[in-house]
Amino acid sequence: MKKETEKKLHALDPRFRKRFKELMSMMDESVSLLYEAATHDEKTGLYNNKFLENMLDMEIEKAKRAQENLSLFMIDIDFFKKINDKYGHMKADELLERLAKVLMKQIRKSDIAARFGGEEFIVLLPETDLSKAKKLTTRLKTAIKSDSMLNKHNLTVSGGITQYKKGDTKKKLKERVDKALYQAKKQGRDRFITVK
Ligand code: GH3
Ligand code: MG
Ligand code: MG
Repeated sequence: MKKETEKKLHALDPRFRKRFKELMSMMDESVSLLYEAATHDEKTGLYNNKFLENMLDMEIEKAKRAQENLSLFMIDIDFFKKINDKYGHMKADELLERLAKVLMKQIRKSDIAARFGGEEFIVLLPETDLSKAKKLTTRLKTAIKSDSMLNKHNLTVSGGITQYKKGDTKKKLKERVDKALYQAKKQGRDRFITVK
């Protein structure tokens, strides 16, 4: 609380002061909840698409101005429709949540992981070059295979990896990572493809 506000509060009747402080704390809580709801995906707890779009704008600006590396990858669960058909929607949802947890474990706090669509995710990797991004995705693939729940249901993902380069717009970068993902699907799924 600001010093000025504290001063004004001090001048109040102690009963009002107490009530005011309670209201302030309730407001803080509501703002946090609103922020959480506006920026996160409810099912997986990852960031939502809107937040990702804003962060992508910011990170591209940073990469441009400070000439910093910026990599990103996009993943899509393989044959998720079949998983839904075979195990049911609820189990499929559980697998989606589990995958989000496995993903979160592999990335840094400064990375931004978002649920981009139904069973698609995008991860921004600031200050990360392509070779480090590739290493990360290899680790992620291993982590998915070693997770008992995901492995039991034969869950695999395909992914595209790319890096920001001079002259890239957000659209170009997203199209490139999407193209890489498409190639991974076309080449047989359960793999990551890099497009420079
Ligand atoms: P592939 O990506 O390998 O080409 O096949 P797919 O079957 O995963 O691809 P497609 O994009 O055709 O279908 C995605 C399916 O994912 C559609 C829907 O049944 C399922 N899906 C999307 N979002 C959710 C969700 O939130 N929960 C569940 N249970 N299923 C979802
Ligand atoms: Mg899909
Ligand atoms: Mg899919």
